[in-house]
Amino acid sequence: MLMTGAQYIESLRKLNTRVYMFGEKIENWVDHPIIRPSINCVAMTYDLAQDPQYADLMTTKSSLTGKTINRFAHLHQSTDDLKKKVKMQRLCGQKTASCFQRCVGMDAFNAVFSTTYEIDQKYGTEYHKNFIEYLKYIQEKDLIVDGAMTDPKGNRGASPAGQKDADLFLRIVERREDGIVVRGAKTHQTGSINSHEHLIMPTIAMTEADKDYAVSFACPSDAEGLYMIYGRQSCDTRKLEEGADIDLGNKEYGGQEALVVFDNVFIPKDRIFLCGEYDFAGMMVERFAGYHRQSYGGCKVGVGDVVIGAAALAADYNGAQKASHIKDKLIEMTHLNETLYCCGIACSSEGYPTAAGNYQIDLLLANVCKQNITRFPYEIVRLAEDIAGGLMVTMPSEKDFKSETVVGKNGETIGDICNKYFAGSPEYTTEERMRILRFLENICLGSAAVGYRTESMHGAGSPQAQRIMISRQGNINAKKELAKTIAGIK
Ligand code: SF4
Ligand code: FE
Repeated sequence: MLMTGAQYIESLRKLNTRVYMFGEKIENWVDHPIIRPSINCVAMTYDLAQDPQYADLMTTKSSLTGKTINRFAHLHQSTDDLKKKVKMQRLCGQKTASCFQRCVGMDAFNAVFSTTYEIDQKYGTEYHKNFIEYLKYIQEKDLIVDGAMTDPKGNRGASPAGQKDADLFLRIVERREDGIVVRGAKTHQTGSINSHEHLIMPTIAMTEADKDYAVSFACPSDAEGLYMIYGRQSCDTRKLEEGADIDLGNKEYGGQEALVVFDNVFIPKDRIFLCGEYDFAGMMVERFAGYHRQSYGGCKVGVGDVVIGAAALAADYNGAQKASHIKDKLIEMTHLNETLYCCGIACSSEGYPTAAGNYQIDLLLANVCKQNITRFPYEIVRLAEDIAGGLMVTMPSEKDFKSETVVGKNGETIGDICNKYFAGSPEYTTEERMRILRFLENICLGSAAVGYRTESMHGAGSPQAQRIMISRQGNINAKKELAKTIAGIK
């Protein structure tokens, strides 16, 4: 059954998720002003699925049960599915201007589904069967799952087993008849607090020495021994200001990252999808990373659409919309944004079926996609700041604009003075101008910058991770042969 956004929010209240922020336990985290925008953002993925005009993008038929499900819980069955995934993400980005968090689960489903099939083929294990039963449960209940990969990693020069503190990569600490006990953490987990479940994967390719670290499993977000420490964002405490609205830039939506700690958590046997088969850790990582690098060719493009729109509005409000350099900057922003979209669509169009039957993206093109994402949003934001003007970061607070304190000799209030001196084009109100500048501030260097800027750099893997994949997939030797043939070199 598909949930509505409101039902999703209510379903979170039933969980006993342990959340800490600013050094304290947060009891009612669902209504916490800093957390709530990130929950609203996930709720959008439910509400859009209820809207008939988006049914083709947001919902589909389950390959496991034949029932209608949210596309975020789907196993991609064709290149058309892969393209629709990207289009769905662009749509969600356009509606929220934020990270809507649900893709990490979708990307994990598809990576774990195909990898477990191949592990079972080699080792005669039952991970694939376990995973299918698990995914049926997720699809049926329409749940949010945090697909969690990134370990703390400690000393980057040492392997998981080579760390001074053995907990710096998540590992198996006990093997029992009925399951395993795991210990460690996953860092900067997108949407972890807003998820009903966690689906854990290893973070790097491993060797035999790392056997205990080669583990994949699922557990509820409120499992015994599991807790989360909220990651703060710039300007986050503005959300705590009474009556805050304009100064937030994006009042309704936001992203979320947290440190997720597994303090000896028991995982029953039927929720285990990898347990010591270290030679498959790399495959799971590569596939998940590939899908998530494709994802950015959708979500960041959708947010980019909103940034471009906001920059164009800022130009209108400044009265500068007719200047040729402004028009040219908007064209450049559009060109960059659509180039990213091309990459998302291209790696999807060139997808292929895995042995398990679901579709995988073209890995080289997905890595090129994400590599561009580590650059173009920065240029788009640079141009947006250029168009917006310095007022974006020097403007007084919304309380000043609304203040009735008299400051002028003729009885003018602080509000009167702010509205007078920060007016732009006479066709628009000063408040409209403020709102769009605060929105741009939020996305360029406020709390939304986590999702649009720094996440574009490091989310789904830092630039160097893509360059390694590009060097592996780029086939330089074949290119040398091409040149030799034409140049007449034997
Ligand atoms: Fe989805 Fe993009 Fe957020 Fe990743 S960064 S979870 S792809 S919205
Ligand atoms: Fe991300």
